[in-house]
Amino acid sequence: MEKIFVTRPTLPPFEEYVDEIRGIWDSHILTNMGPKHQKLERELENYLKVENAILFTNGHSALELLLSAYSFPPGSEVITTPYTFASTTHAIVRNGLVPVFCDINEDDCTIDADKIETLITDKTVAILPVHVYGNICDVDKLDKISKAHDLKLVYDSAHAFGIEYKRRGIGSFGDASMFSFHATKVFNTIEGGLISCKDKNTVNRLIDLKNFGIRNEERVIVEGSNAKLNEFCAAMGICNLKHIEKTIENRRIVYERYVRQLIGVKGIELIYPRIPATKNFAYFPIKIKEDYGISRDGLYDLLKTKGIYARKYFYPITNEFECYIGKYTKGKTPIAHKISSEILTLPMYENLDLEYVDKICSIIRQTNRIV
Ligand SMILES: *Cc1c(COP(=O)(O)O)cnc(C)c1O
Repeated sequence: MEKIFVTRPTLPPFEEYVDEIRGIWDSHILTNMGPKHQKLERELENYLKVENAILFTNGHSALELLLSAYSFPPGSEVITTPYTFASTTHAIVRNGLVPVFCDINEDDCTIDADKIETLITDKTVAILPVHVYGNICDVDKLDKISKAHDLKLVYDSAHAFGIEYKRRGIGSFGDASMFSFHATKVFNTIEGGLISCKDKNTVNRLIDLKNFGIRNEERVIVEGSNAKLNEFCAAMGICNLKHIEKTIENRRIVYERYVRQLIGVKGIELIYPRIPATKNFAYFPIKIKEDYGISRDGLYDLLKTKGIYARKYFYPITNEFECYIGKYTKGKTPIAHKISSEILTLPMYENLDLEYVDKICSIIRQTNRIV
């Protein structure tokens, strides 16, 4: 029996990648913001409709360095969501800042903007929401709140590659956004990440921070890190970007095949965006409700016995991680907790065989009927 995993990375045609990297054997430029790195930054500014794009080795380093670029006083508070990947909360904590967890909306799983203001104190310096599964946050409301309280607004846009709202790139909202180009994301550079940012000072700070703070041969101006995307990864991005429209279209076909068969199944709820933006079909999450008959974990195990590897994404929520539980107690998040016990993301990737989608859906439908 063939195994089906929750995701499978997109690769460009082999010959295209070989053509793209051939020149490296003439130039011997492997890294340090070489020509491919620069080319990809310009292409992504264009595609993502953002003013400045800065590449990094991965999305997490990008986010960690973005928070460090703002030089917030140690112990400052950042209002964020626990319904996310480990990276978001770790980036806050690893900067010596304190995550303050805000609950999420029941329908689209993004931060509940109406609950933010009650969490603001004189220590709050920033809001860090996540565009979960590519469902964008209420960026208009968040913009108003951050401006009214003079807070930085930075987005974890790891799931939101290519999404547009009001004809603007999603990365142009707020002060800055982080995108992840990890192998499993809609667009990949094998590993990679990006910050889009309007403010020129922050841009320059980030360029310093990703290269040891080295300004020139004789000046080191900040205790920087090393987070430069290498030329082979940049080349993968250049190739994958050429096919991105087709990639998203191929994902749409898989997505719609699922929707047609799972809509209206008793005890199964689909997750829809509440803000009308374009879609990138990054994930296919479903909620398994009490009246489904078996539990989320039951369905997860059942699919596994048939070679189908779904994921409990996001479970556990980050404020329930071993390393954080009991530590950051401010802000209760009962809705995030409940959703994390119901959520299952089904296999979703470009060119996932539609017969497999049908098989997965028929298992889900039949299980419901038996009980
Ligand atoms: C993937 C992801 C990240 C981290 O990105 P990497 O490129 O893997 O470091 C951060 N936040 C979210 C929500 C993610 O899904």
